[in-house]
Amino acid sequence: MPLYQYKCNRCQNGFEVRHSYRALGTKCVLCESEDIQRVLASPPQRSIVIKDIRKKTGAEVTRAIEEARSEIERVKEQKSQRVRKEVKK
Ligand SMILES: [Zn+2]
Repeated sequence: MPLYQYKCNRCQNGFEVRHSYRALGTKCVLCESEDIQRVLASPPQRSIVIKDIRKKTGAEVTRAIEEARSEIERVKEQKSQRVRKEVKK
């Protein structure tokens, strides 16, 4: 069943509703207000990257992969530096 995220305009409460069809009369779980809006759930980071690569071709794909790899290396390096600093203390 799909999961929909809603946000209440009255109490700003965010909540999730599972329903298989477009449910009418969905209410805020806290204040029961019907003044709610659907929030589009942000897709996982990975799918964004894949979509991004699909739009590109040839050398651009290679460069995008290289950039992603160096980004991963940089994060790894930052993590190991942090660990080294912690060891020194
Ligand atoms: Zn509410």
